Amino acid sequence: MARIMAVVGEAGRRLGLRTAQRPDIAYGVKDGYLVQVAAGNADGSACAVEIVRYVDATRDAAVRSAVLASDAVARGTIKPGHLQIGDGLAIHRRRRRLFRSVEADRVVNDVEALLASVKRACPSPPVACRLCGSTSGNEPMLLNDVVDRVCPSCIERLRHDVRRASQQYDDLPLNLPLAVMTAAVVAGVAALAWAGIAVATNRMFWGVAIASGALIGYCTTRAVGRGGVGVQCVTGLFTVISVVLGQALFLAWQVHKHAQTRGLKVDWKVFAGYVPSLLWVDSGSTLFALGGGLLGAYYAVRKAAKPKLEVKVETTESPRLPTSPSRS
Ligand SMILES: [Zn+2]
Repeated sequence: MARIMAVVGEAGRRLGLRTAQRPDIAYGVKDGYLVQVAAGNADGSACAVEIVRYVDATRDAAVRSAVLASDAVARGTIKPGHLQIGDGLAIHRRRRRLFRSVEADRVVNDVEALLASVKRACPSPPVACRLCGSTSGNEPMLLNDVVDRVCPSCIERLRHDVRRASQQYDDLPLNLPLAVMTAAVVAGVAALAWAGIAVATNRMFWGVAIASGALIGYCTTRAVGRGGVGVQCVTGLFTVISVVLGQALFLAWQVHKHAQTRGLKVDWKVFAGYVPSLLWVDSGSTLFALGGGLLGAYYAVRKAAKPKLEVKVETTESPRLPTSPSRS
């Protein structure tokens, strides 16, 4: 990540952009358009995110056609699959080439190619607040990490909207009995699947345990219609129960088979009492199953989390020197 930040910084300097308070984003105005380069992620590895904001969302289709018709796409330096155009934004993710890092040269070329295409399709946006058109919002800034122009009163309104949305989410009724019932049913099914797969293959699969946790979280959140801490607790608890139950069922099957070959009958009541100690004796398998289940529960719990709502604003302006020009 340190390397990609250096590349972003270097590309930003060459493009005449300013760096934000954080070193991983550079942004500014180029030929009248809002431009940004930032360190990001694509397919799990570091990439450079290149953004041109032309603001007018009605020009999205025209911008897309212009970019697709550009030389950069024809030469293959910009791949259509790495583009994202919409809502007045043209975004390209410059991925690493195999065994090589992203180079500042390429990032600069990408931004210039993107900008040239945008210019052909859409006039430069007015120097004003994107939301209300007020000229008090004429300084470029970062709104939730994307370059933008928004005036202070619109930011205040956005913050208010987010607070209200967050409050509304918290106020949604949580049907805990339904959450518990759904989690219990899915946990039961997952336990049977775990035992069934263990019986069929005589092996335990990490992936099955993870999938159980994820499935329990997904179904519970869907059934209740919201996530949050309550749903997360129910999900985590039932994932552990599911995995332990599945493991107990697998043990029961082994005992049953063992008894059958000797013509014995199993007293299941007595067996049930022995389950904890059996799980303890076979602690390696139990821990393996539990580890997978907990990992699944972690995914499930993340899935069941309350959506993150925020309005984050960053500028490069120094509060003491509001009129100082950016250093070159
Ligand atoms: Zn405004």
